[in-house]
Amino acid sequence: MADKEGFLKYKRQLQDSRSPEERKKDYKEIYKPLDPKVLHQQAARCMDCGIPFCHNGCPLGNVIPEFNDAVYQKEWELAYHILKGTNNFPEFTGRICPAPCEASCVLGINKDPVAIELIEKSIAEKAYELGLVKPKVPAERTGKKVAVIGSGPAGLAAADQLNQAGHEVTVFEKDKEVGGLLRYGIPDFKLEKWVIDRRVDIMDKEGVIFSKDTEVGSNIKAEDILQSFDAVVLSTGAQHPRDLKIKGRDAKGIHFAMEFLGRQNQVISGQLEENPIHAKGKHVIVIGGGDTGSDCIGTSNRHGAASITQLELLPKPPQQRTSLNPWPEWPMTLRTSSSHEEGAERVWSVLTKEFTTDKNGNVTGLTIVDIEWREVDGRMQFFEIEETQRTLPCDLAFLAIGYMGPKTGLLEAFDLELMENSLPKSRNYQSSVPKVFLAGDMRRGQSLVVWAIAEGRECAVEVDKFLSDGKSSLARRDKSFYSYEDNEISV
Ligand SMILES: Cc1cc2nc3c(=O)[nH]c(=O)nc-3n(C[C@H](O)[C@H](O)[C@H](O)COP(=O)(O)OP(=O)(O)OC[C@H]3O[C@@H](n4cnc5c(N)ncnc54)[C@H](O)[C@@H]3O)c2cc1C
Ligand code: SF4
Repeated sequence: MADKEGFLKYKRQLQDSRSPEERKKDYKEIYKPLDPKVLHQQAARCMDCGIPFCHNGCPLGNVIPEFNDAVYQKEWELAYHILKGTNNFPEFTGRICPAPCEASCVLGINKDPVAIELIEKSIAEKAYELGLVKPKVPAERTGKKVAVIGSGPAGLAAADQLNQAGHEVTVFEKDKEVGGLLRYGIPDFKLEKWVIDRRVDIMDKEGVIFSKDTEVGSNIKAEDILQSFDAVVLSTGAQHPRDLKIKGRDAKGIHFAMEFLGRQNQVISGQLEENPIHAKGKHVIVIGGGDTGSDCIGTSNRHGAASITQLELLPKPPQQRTSLNPWPEWPMTLRTSSSHEEGAERVWSVLTKEFTTDKNGNVTGLTIVDIEWREVDGRMQFFEIEETQRTLPCDLAFLAIGYMGPKTGLLEAFDLELMENSLPKSRNYQSSVPKVFLAGDMRRGQSLVVWAIAEGRECAVEVDKFLSDGKSSLARRDKSFYSYEDNEISV
């Protein structure tokens, strides 16, 4: 710990953003470059806690106080070495992670937590700038072949780890380009796609084979994959969207969020000329208050929507933690994303009743009613509030109310046993089918990029053990950075 008083001297500070007016004109990252002095001060705020709760908060087990200190000392090589020991893709999580590590940072008990995500992104970018992120081709090959199906963060992390263990890895991806929801879901203003290309290029040079435009179960059979490979990792996500079965749902102008967002990302990358779903001049209603809904707001604003309203069934969360939600739990507090800052009306505790349409079948409005949440027999239930029913104008509606699990097709093709919640059964990442493993949203349901990377890494350990008589050279957390340190520290 370099500066014992850093947390007393400096306030939490993040990267400044471009103004909402300016950033709405493009799809580029919203942040301005960071003053290195600010980063140094932010690293100095870490208290190097005896029990660093941040470790447990991070699904990857990132070794945070040590990399904070390395940044403070300006030891970039060490900082990157520590970070890459637990996280294959800090340039992704440093940009789009909701940072559960920060939610559990000890400083957060009575001050703003350490800006861990910002420090993570800065280490990753500095490492690229200094040429520290370079292809590392495994010294020896095992002769074993692994198929990874699905190239989202889970598949990429599994492929990266298994390739480093010396196996020959082929990643099959049904889309034109690699990245899963990083590329075809998350908008560019949160994650520009060159960030993915830069990493995939390195993996390509390290020997990972990418077979794009290849849908397993459709244009290549599951049996052929099983015959040709020693192990298979299925990481095809959980992109089956939840529908809203109310009157008028079939009207023109009502879409699943991903139909809109995925195409917009294709337009930006030049894969599609224009988005057939356009918000310009329209009254847009986004149903669902989560990340996906927020991304629809940001994109609709960039299209030039006439108005945007976001509806949420649940009540408005409090600004601060309540006594029922103490530190270090994940804070159930109000979140205002950069897209919200750019403009949208947010309405909580409302139930959608029906879509209204014109004679041509176009959506014209959405009827909603206010609800009240009450505890009945120990369970929260909602009740409609009388005389609050009203119809909002609506020319375009996006359904962003979650995902039901993996899309079907591949599940049948591999004959996977399912659980009641429609996710495939697994034990230690092994599915019900011999030599077929599972990772990411496909295994745990719709989640976060950081969890997908953690799943990919952990699944890779199990696959490596399966291929190497129960032993694995891979580690969930690579502790080799301790050779840089005088004292051993346990994680
Ligand atoms: C709009 C949106 C915004 C989000 N924003 C955030 C955020 O800000 N921060 C965050 O942490 N998380 C966010 N998430 C969640 C995050 O993107 C996912 O949890 C994560 O991408 C899951 O990774 P995965 O590798 O398991 O699956 P995915 O990313 O879904 O990748 C699965 C891949 O499998 C491919 N595939 C499917 N079937 C086949 C087949 N038969 N053959 C070959 N390939 C196939 C798909 O094309 C896809 O490329 C967001 C999700 C959405 C939808
Ligand atoms: S909990 Fe916060 S202050 Fe403590 S070691 Fe982790 S980042 Fe530093």
